[in-house]
Amino acid sequence: MPIRVTVWNEFRHEKSHEAVKKVYPKGMHITLKGALEKLLGDQVKVGTATLDEPDHGLSEKVLKNTDVMLWWGHMAHGEVKDEIAAKVAQRVREGMALIVLHSGHISKPFVKLMGTTGFLKWREAAEKERLWNVMPGHPITAGLAKDYIELPHEEMYGEHFDIPTPDELIFVSWFEGGEVFRSGCVWRRGAGRVFYFRPGHETFPTYHNAEVQQVIANAVKYLAPTAGAVPFRNSCPNVKESLSPIVGEHEVDETLHKR
Ligand code: ZN
Repeated sequence: MPIRVTVWNEFRHEKSHEAVKKVYPKGMHITLKGALEKLLGDQVKVGTATLDEPDHGLSEKVLKNTDVMLWWGHMAHGEVKDEIAAKVAQRVREGMALIVLHSGHISKPFVKLMGTTGFLKWREAAEKERLWNVMPGHPITAGLAKDYIELPHEEMYGEHFDIPTPDELIFVSWFEGGEVFRSGCVWRRGAGRVFYFRPGHETFPTYHNAEVQQVIANAVKYLAPTAGAVPFRNSCPNVKESLSPIVGEHEVDETLHKR
C-alpha cells in the first residue's frame, strides 16, 4: 500500500506576489508533490489541498485517507477554521504524521499539538543558512552528501524557539547573521508524530533544492503510521475491574471523582 500524502498549502502568496509566483508558478504544493513523486515513486500517493477550497481542502474523507500531511502556511493562519485545525490535530493523535514547514511554526494545528506559542525571532534578508545534522544515521538524514545542508539565501529564524523539547533533534541551523535555530525536530503526539522542518521562505527557491526535497521525502517515509498499531483511545475511562486481584481493602468515595 502506498503512503497517502496530502500536501496542504495556504496558496495565497503565489497568486498575489510576482516574486513568489516566479519561484512557484503553480504553487508550492505542486512543487512539493512533484518532488515526492520523483523521489518516492509508487511508494506514495500524493494529493494536495489549499486554504481557499471548501473546508480548506480537508474534508472528512481527505483527512481519513491521509497518512502523512505537509503543512505550509504564512499570511493566513487566522483564516484556518478552528474546527479544521482541531480535526488535523486529532488525526495526528490517531496516527497521521504532520510535517510542518517553515512559517507553519505558528499554524493552528502545530500550536495546538505543541501546547506552546511557537514564537521565534526572525529577519528577512538573503542570508546563508547551514543546517547541521546533529543526529547522523537518522533516517530523515539518509542520502545527504555532507553533515550539513547549505542554502545560499534564506530568511533567518532564531532562538529562542518556543517549542517543547523535541523527542528527536535532527538539524540545528546556523545563519550568516549569527543566530542559531533548532530547525529539524520530531515529537510524538498520541499515536502520530510531528516533524517541524524550518527552511522554505516563499521568495527563495528552497523547495527546489535537492537536499531539502530529500529530507522531506525521508520524513514522509520515517513518520508514516505503523500498520496494525493499537488505535489511539480518545477517552479517559475509569477501569473499575482489575486484571488481577488487588489484596488491599479500600472504599471508594465516589464524590471525590464527581465533576
Ligand atoms: Zn518566511
